[in-house]
Amino acid sequence: MKFLDTTLRDGEQTPGVSLVPENKLRIAQRLDELGVDFIEAGFAAVSEGELESVRLIAKQGLRAQIYSAARGTINDIDAVLKSGASGICMIIPTSDLHIECKLRKTREQVLKATEECVQYAKAHGLTVELLAEDATRSDFNYLSKVFQTAVNAGADRLVPCDTVGILTPERTAEFFSKLKEAFDVPIGVHCHNDFGMAVANSVAALGAGAQEAHATVNGLGERAGNAAIEEIVITLRSLYKLDLNIKTELLYGTSQLVSRLTGIHVQPNKAVVGENAFTHESGIHTQGLLSNPLTYEPITPELVGRTRRLSPGKHSGSHAIRQDLQNMGLMPTEEQFKEIFQRIKELGDKGKTVMDADVLAIAENVMGLSPIRPIQLQEMTFVGGDKVTATASVKLRLNGKDVWGAAVGVGPVDAAINAVKAAIAEVEPITLEQYNVKAITGGTDAMVEVVVRMRKGNRTVTAMGVREDIVKASMEAVLSGMNVLTTDYNHKNQKAKPQTSP
Ligand code: MN
Repeated sequence: MKFLDTTLRDGEQTPGVSLVPENKLRIAQRLDELGVDFIEAGFAAVSEGELESVRLIAKQGLRAQIYSAARGTINDIDAVLKSGASGICMIIPTSDLHIECKLRKTREQVLKATEECVQYAKAHGLTVELLAEDATRSDFNYLSKVFQTAVNAGADRLVPCDTVGILTPERTAEFFSKLKEAFDVPIGVHCHNDFGMAVANSVAALGAGAQEAHATVNGLGERAGNAAIEEIVITLRSLYKLDLNIKTELLYGTSQLVSRLTGIHVQPNKAVVGENAFTHESGIHTQGLLSNPLTYEPITPELVGRTRRLSPGKHSGSHAIRQDLQNMGLMPTEEQFKEIFQRIKELGDKGKTVMDADVLAIAENVMGLSPIRPIQLQEMTFVGGDKVTATASVKLRLNGKDVWGAAVGVGPVDAAINAVKAAIAEVEPITLEQYNVKAITGGTDAMVEVVVRMRKGNRTVTAMGVREDIVKASMEAVLSGMNVLTTDYNHKNQKAKPQTSP
């Protein structure tokens, strides 16, 4: 079972995505670590930048073999040769629709070009993967002719592409079984997700004898995207019990890197790598999870490099809230706990997203504790503008001592957050995992809501800041999250009696 990752070619064709060579290289290195067999690094003939990207990646000496896409022209193949890639994904349209309307050629001309181009590429030492474009809407006899011509000319592998994603799992199985019978060279599968079945169809093809899957990280790609590599991998590993050479524990980090560098967010409810894939709020669920995670998780978060998160909210059960409070060193009496629990539910019923910072504030209020906030903002300055590097400095009170931090950033928010991190870095290793911002009223003087997720060791918390100014709202959210993470009433004189029975 082999994987060809095409995040850097088909994935980069996602509207609005364009990667500079250095970022393509970073993704390629990560894919190599992940363990994919082939990386389609780009489309060398498209532009100078693309050629440069493929060349940069090809010369790294990665374990994965590097491929470039090309159309069926000598010009395109020459660009691949210049790039130093060891293989070529040669795209040959095979449906009449594509041949007539796009290429404005005849079936015979396409056959001839296939023969010439495969021979040329082979003669120059390239491994040739023949990608039949729109294969699933092609006349099967003609498709077979193109494939036979390619094999006779020396093609190494055949990949019928479901270019507009119209296969179903049943049709896929039938289609690939037929091809498998007709050809001896390895066959690959390349699916698009227009009907949400790219992964299901890829798995069906592999079951019917395909030996290689084309896929992209996060399912990136034109329109609804390509088959998502993380979903195919985990399906094969967990549901089909196959041994793969993929380091599954790197899947989440890879997804995050690609999301960051492409600017394409992963939907929260996406399988395997979505924000909520291992987050639980419902009380019935969390109670089960705390006694045995298998109750509501088909795979462990560790398998894909993640951790489980219990999120407070109106569906939360008492188990999750108790654990949250324990993490902050808070041990309310049974009566106090009931009151805290009740108020959290009320907040949720009002439609508010309950943050860990809210849980802390409610508990302090109910338990009559005067809030300890280990980190307090004393002063903040920032400068920014056009042709000025955004710079911020902060003075914080950290556990009763003054600390200072200064930093630059891509803008004032980034600079301010970096300055806070710099100020507390030595004492508290806290990282910012997620930052979301939205305007909650219209106009340029709108209230801005910033929600952050922060991590210290194994623990993550959420916090929010709402202000008219985005820098202040960001500061509020970040400091609030940091305070939840650093608050530990165990080290203070806690007046409340320790709780005795659960
Ligand atoms: Mn494609």
